[in-house]
Amino acid sequence: MRKNFVIMTLVLASFSFTKMTAQINFGEKAIGAVQKGVAGFTFSNADAAKLSKEAVDKLDAEHEIAGPTDGYTLRLNRVFGKHATTDGVTLNYKVYKIKEVNAFATADGSVRVYSGLMDIMDDNELIAVIGHEIGHVINNDSRDAIRAAYQKEALMDGAASQSATIATVTDSQLGKIGSAIIDSKYSRKQESEADLFAYNFMKKNGYNVNAEESAFRILAKMSEGAEASFIDQMMSSHPDSKKRADDAKARAEKDGAYKLYVQQKIVNTVPATTTKKATTTKKTTKKKK
Ligand SMILES: [Zn+2]
Repeated sequence: MRKNFVIMTLVLASFSFTKMTAQINFGEKAIGAVQKGVAGFTFSNADAAKLSKEAVDKLDAEHEIAGPTDGYTLRLNRVFGKHATTDGVTLNYKVYKIKEVNAFATADGSVRVYSGLMDIMDDNELIAVIGHEIGHVINNDSRDAIRAAYQKEALMDGAASQSATIATVTDSQLGKIGSAIIDSKYSRKQESEADLFAYNFMKKNGYNVNAEESAFRILAKMSEGAEASFIDQMMSSHPDSKKRADDAKARAEKDGAYKLYVQQKIVNTVPATTTKKATTTKKTTKKKK
């Protein structure tokens, strides 16, 4: 709720071209990166990563983040921690405690998973969804998206940025770039390539690939039901769940690996015994965090 309110405030402030954003505080770093871009209009991969990081820092500040001993964090550590470096990309990950079904990843390698998603996906399904988001990063979709969002903001606010109020304009720009990240709209082609990445990621790491179909079936089913409002975010950016489930199934069939997936138990609470560390069970090669 609060997040939506903040984003709405930023949008309104930006359109009105007034100084009404003065109450919104940002670090100087964030302002610096955007100003640099405005001046030069070049936008390198490093710029994409830097701007993404700043937008994510802002989103982090606006969301309740699961703490280090929270059950959601422990589960994500266990399920995803060993993949924190994937294909040479170093990922940082956090759980947003929010009852929406969503996850996103950004050009700087930030992965954010909503607890609402973790409530309905088992470990393998979660890997499928996170793998999909990582696919967007590795395929440079995330970079292209933030560049597009940035260009849109920079152009739209061009007139206002002539004045000395660039800092306040920049605040709202960053807010809008942040909400663009959350609502990230990718092309159908980008989506199916990210799905393929997730599938191969699961296969390579020895997961049950049928969980990908299952994850999309869950989303498709929810979009028809009373829970639809919960998954607005994910459905609006990922509209073809049914087709994508079918595609995942077809991939598994082609590999001779198809079997209807049965969802496993979902545990987001702190386990009774946490003494045993889950570090060395899989064929993880390097663990760098
Ligand atoms: Zn996607």
